[in-house]
Amino acid sequence: MRFETRAIHAGQDPEPQFGAVNVPIYQTSTYAQPEVGRPKRYDYARGGNPTREAFQTALASLEGGARCLAFASGLAAEATLLLTLAPGDHVLLGNDVYGGTYRLLSRVLAGWGLAFDVVDMTDPQAVASAARDETRVIWVETPTNPLLKVIDVAAVAEIAHAGGARCVVDNTFATPYLQRPLELGADVVVHSVTKYLGGHSDLVGGAIVTSDEELAERLAFLQNAVGAVPGPMDCYLALRGLKTLAVRMEAHCRGARAIVELLRGHPRVTRVHYPGLPGHPGFEVAVRQMRDFGGMVSFEMGSKEEAVRVAQRTRLFFLAESLGGVESLIELPAPMTHASVTGSALEVPETLVRLSVGIEHPEDLVGDLAAALDSGN
Ligand SMILES: *Cc1c(COP(=O)(O)O)cnc(C)c1O
Repeated sequence: MRFETRAIHAGQDPEPQFGAVNVPIYQTSTYAQPEVGRPKRYDYARGGNPTREAFQTALASLEGGARCLAFASGLAAEATLLLTLAPGDHVLLGNDVYGGTYRLLSRVLAGWGLAFDVVDMTDPQAVASAARDETRVIWVETPTNPLLKVIDVAAVAEIAHAGGARCVVDNTFATPYLQRPLELGADVVVHSVTKYLGGHSDLVGGAIVTSDEELAERLAFLQNAVGAVPGPMDCYLALRGLKTLAVRMEAHCRGARAIVELLRGHPRVTRVHYPGLPGHPGFEVAVRQMRDFGGMVSFEMGSKEEAVRVAQRTRLFFLAESLGGVESLIELPAPMTHASVTGSALEVPETLVRLSVGIEHPEDLVGDLAAALDSGN
């Protein structure tokens, strides 16, 4: 079955008792057991829940992985994954990974003896030189936030494997519709389900997908032992989001293309960052590893004041953090999303504006952004 079909059918057979076509929200914390010591499928809901399991089955199928585990947030998924490592192990990160990932390593896990370094992941040579004997994980995020750099997943996975490390890819920005890291050689995919997978800005969630059974078993143990599990309602919403992922991503990409056209020709915009632009440094790699270029766009204005003005003058693009929902969002990474991660290796220009292009009609979005760019002469 193809992607769009699996999104609607994988793990989602009609419910046997009444034939409900939607997986029910099994809002229960425990399960009655027929005999002492012999529970049915589940005993307690931290360990398992049918709504969660349906979402996990569907997402595993979309990523082309054998197993998926769902978590209460993207960072809960990341923290649980990193707990498979031990003091003395080393993690190699991109120099512009998601701020929360950097904070988790630098301000939480470093204190428990997990070492890490940051490196420019767009340069495979630099990745190879920064890898150590103790490196157990090379953590890739592509496209990156907010400069939308593109990392060659196959090249980094090869470097990781040569040194006995795993290649983990944060696939939040691209989603499995546009990019499937496991097929490119990565070992693990992590997601903030909060973003495109949920897709409607109405839940917080995370997930890990892998085909490494041994790792999946360890993660299933940790998922229950550490306990950062999602509730059934959020799993239901996440599953509903997955069903429309393909059509939404097509619309996000279409909108982004229209916005990029506007920005490229606009006299007040000094630079546009989008992996689908032939002049973008990651364009060739993006063409190779992605189906299309996604709904995230960032651009630079002539001054910080102009950037602030644009971000405050759109009407359809809401001024907000987060991304990946059906509604368009605008934000300034330097004072907003990146302000909380001091010490992160990357300088983000104060003139930078980031857009999460929603699925409204592209002409309405172009009109809204054009009006904001042209205002305040
Ligand atoms: C939002 C985000 C995360 C963290 O996910 P939460 O669901 O907010 O915990 C991780 N990686 C990327 C790329 C993100 O955008």
